[in-house]
Amino acid sequence: MKLPVDIKDIKDFAYITNRKLPNEQGEKSGEVVMWRRKGEDEFNYKLKCPHCGEEQESSVVFKKRPYRVKCSNCGKSIMVEKLSKK
Ligand SMILES: [Zn+2]
Repeated sequence: MKLPVDIKDIKDFAYITNRKLPNEQGEKSGEVVMWRRKGEDEFNYKLKCPHCGEEQESSVVFKKRPYRVKCSNCGKSIMVEKLSKK
């Protein structure tokens, strides 16, 4: 999945991650791209649900780790591990 934002100035971002997501069988059938700009509380993300395959785009404010997003289609909770700081 491509990042849907222009990241040519990566210094503007507090977090960016792009990772594959495993389903319950351990197959990496999903993917998430998540990013947060510096000075903003909201994380934005694009998600391909590993469980149902639905693609969605949303934003969320996390209060604590581990970070979890919920699929708007099948309702499953998906953990986004170790957001990498760059
Ligand atoms: Zn789903």
